Amino acid sequence: MNHVWSTLGSLLFPRRCLICDQPAGSPFFSFPGSSIYASLLCVDCAAGLPAIAGPVCTKCGYPQTDKTGEHDCVLQELGRHLELIRSGYLYEGVMMETIHRWKYQQRHLLLPLIQKLVDRAMDRWKDDFLDVDVIVAVPLAAADWRARGFNQALVIAGRGAFYLGKPLRRRLLIKTRRTPKQARLHRSSRTTNLAGAFQVNRPRDLVGKTVLLCDDVMTTGSTLAAAGNVLLQAGAKAVKCFTLCRVL
Ligand SMILES: [Zn+2]
Ligand SMILES: [Zn+2]
Repeated sequence: MNHVWSTLGSLLFPRRCLICDQPAGSPFFSFPGSSIYASLLCVDCAAGLPAIAGPVCTKCGYPQTDKTGEHDCVLQELGRHLELIRSGYLYEGVMMETIHRWKYQQRHLLLPLIQKLVDRAMDRWKDDFLDVDVIVAVPLAAADWRARGFNQALVIAGRGAFYLGKPLRRRLLIKTRRTPKQARLHRSSRTTNLAGAFQVNRPRDLVGKTVLLCDDVMTTGSTLAAAGNVLLQAGAKAVKCFTLCRVL
């Protein structure tokens, strides 16, 4: 019985960093206004979060790391029908570890950290989302949802909706079949891989609306492009995108 209480206690009051298990203590990630909750991350992991903080491409959100900021802009290629993309963090280091643990190991334990990370990203990008009417997540196929137990994109979309004070539409966009992982495919196969996989359930909830489409990690942008296309064909006025992380 003792270990039940100590497990419960450590779940409710984590005193160790959720990522590296060192003593936590980053004031940035402690819950404001509460002395009950200890911090979520240690100082090193909090400092190592690869936040996208500098200037970005106004269209696709690509970090402008040099003066030219040259990149293959997704919004001039396969995602040209999307209005903009914004991401919170680079998918590397502490962030990659966080997403991996959240997906596959510690779903409930890491939830407060994920929510905090969404909030910080939204602090930065909220002005770009002022005209958003509804929020949707990139959906999982039913079989994938059952296998994993949750849709991480929906959790991110839900927190974004809470932050922005906009409605989340859970069942508006669905995925009708499983598809091979985009990252494992050649560029040419990525579009055909997703063709027909997304479907809008209740188009009347969408007509004339600006939609914020959310996902956990953007790799090539082909998933956002395909899902965004389906939303526009069903009558959305515009599609903006938010991903928690981004692969460069
Ligand atoms: Zn740590
Ligand atoms: Zn760009």
